[in-house]
Amino acid sequence: MALAPPEIIGRGTWLDKVASEIVERELKLGRQVDLLRVESGLGASGVPHIGNYSDAARAYGIKLALESIGKRAELIAFSDDMDGLRKVPAGLPKSLSKYIGFPVSSVPDPFGCHESYGSHMSGLLLEALDKTGVKYRSVSGTRAYKEGLFNSQIDKILSNAARVGEIIKETLGQEKYTEVLPYFLVCESCGRIYTTRALEYFPDRHAVRYSCDGMELRGEMLKGCGHRGEVDVFSGRGKLSWKVEFAARWSALKVNYEAYGKELIDSVKTNDRVMEEILREPSPFHTRYEHFLDKTGAKVSKSVGNVLAPQLWLRYAPPQTLLLLMYKRSVGSRAVWVKDIPTYIAELDELEDVYFGRKEVKDPRELARLRGLYEYVWNLSPPRSPTAHVPHNLLVYLVKVAPKDKEKEFVVQRLAGYGYQVDPNDQRFQERLEKAINWAKEIETITTGPVRVEGKEREAILELAGIVNASADENYLQNSVFTIAKKHDLEPGPFFKTLYRVLIGADHGPRLGPYILAMGRDNVATALASAARMASK
Ligand SMILES: [Zn+2]
Ligand SMILES: [Zn+2]
Repeated sequence: MALAPPEIIGRGTWLDKVASEIVERELKLGRQVDLLRVESGLGASGVPHIGNYSDAARAYGIKLALESIGKRAELIAFSDDMDGLRKVPAGLPKSLSKYIGFPVSSVPDPFGCHESYGSHMSGLLLEALDKTGVKYRSVSGTRAYKEGLFNSQIDKILSNAARVGEIIKETLGQEKYTEVLPYFLVCESCGRIYTTRALEYFPDRHAVRYSCDGMELRGEMLKGCGHRGEVDVFSGRGKLSWKVEFAARWSALKVNYEAYGKELIDSVKTNDRVMEEILREPSPFHTRYEHFLDKTGAKVSKSVGNVLAPQLWLRYAPPQTLLLLMYKRSVGSRAVWVKDIPTYIAELDELEDVYFGRKEVKDPRELARLRGLYEYVWNLSPPRSPTAHVPHNLLVYLVKVAPKDKEKEFVVQRLAGYGYQVDPNDQRFQERLEKAINWAKEIETITTGPVRVEGKEREAILELAGIVNASADENYLQNSVFTIAKKHDLEPGPFFKTLYRVLIGADHGPRLGPYILAMGRDNVATALASAARMASK
């Protein structure tokens, strides 16, 4: 009996799978939704890193997947700019420390270009989304509270604060909210938000009595000013605690889907229960994703000084590579660093080869997935023809040896000599060249994908690494490749090919003597030694 061919959902990627699950759930709930909304929170309290970007970009991928199955959908990018400043991020002026505990939307922009610190930070993230073609509806938390978007949710939550406190205790083990209300007011006297304790709610005049007592923040006591007062919670001078704010957002903005990272599992559970038991609405559909890690294994986080910002990535690589990083997989934490960029450029080129039928993929499921992935990284508007695939390292090398201000002519001419057909007016080629110029100026490393190196070749490569360390003579270096090949009983042709694969990521390349000097002897020696090291494992 023949097996039925496996069903391919949408374009066969995980984005399509999630989209179909969202639609299925809406059906099960019996809701007729004419516009499905996916939400992503944008942190506004630190310099946005690639993890913050990934939340919004992935949510956008889901929106595209929903649209491609005929649904209307929108991405809501919610800026958490009512949050208080918890610490001064590395690299920002220490003078900001006097604003710790203030809502980031009331802290001045240290760079002077936005109306506040918070709008500067969320502005950076929105800019990265714009640069990669991600479309969204931006909602500022501060404005939403001011405009009363959450008024009915705030009233329901605070009127049922005792029950909410129990839910928080049951899901998070935190007893605090059995005593205080899950709401933070901006102190009318000192302007801080995290120092206040909301003590009592008066539903008739929707006001909360509070005292500015201080709070423990990152192991230190942030002192309050002692002020006591009463504030109208419909006035926008405060915000709900994280323990319940998601629920208020989901309800007010009618969110159908929101993903979360694993550190928020319990928080999402709490908010789901608040949504169902207090606000009496079904909670949105959720999926969980893993975070991005940097190469040291620590989370790429805004509290680490040298953050991998999406802007940094985009200086060196086309936007599609960043979306490829986001859309490739949803689970399995991935280590990523600037050095990985050339690998993603090569992967994008490979994906393009698959899409345009230049590279064969036998499994129909895998073919569909890869074609789908290519369409998603182009925001479902893929180009009509492929561009020239020049390995990143070769471009970088040519830029390094090109006469100043004549880079383009020089590179195009030399590439033609290596057999690459490049149209100098191709916009995508021009963009890559520009980014290779940035890389050549700013990044000191050589990275290519893993190359199989075995036996005699491995010995020969190690020996060459030693010579590269020892000599700066162009001709000597060039000739060494031949002498070493001979000494280790290797054909020079295949040996060169291996070296080009290790150093450039292609089978052919420029003369190695000048290449080694231009790319930096240290870098070349390191790349050779690490290829040999990988082979020994
Ligand atoms: Zn600014
Ligand atoms: Zn105060």
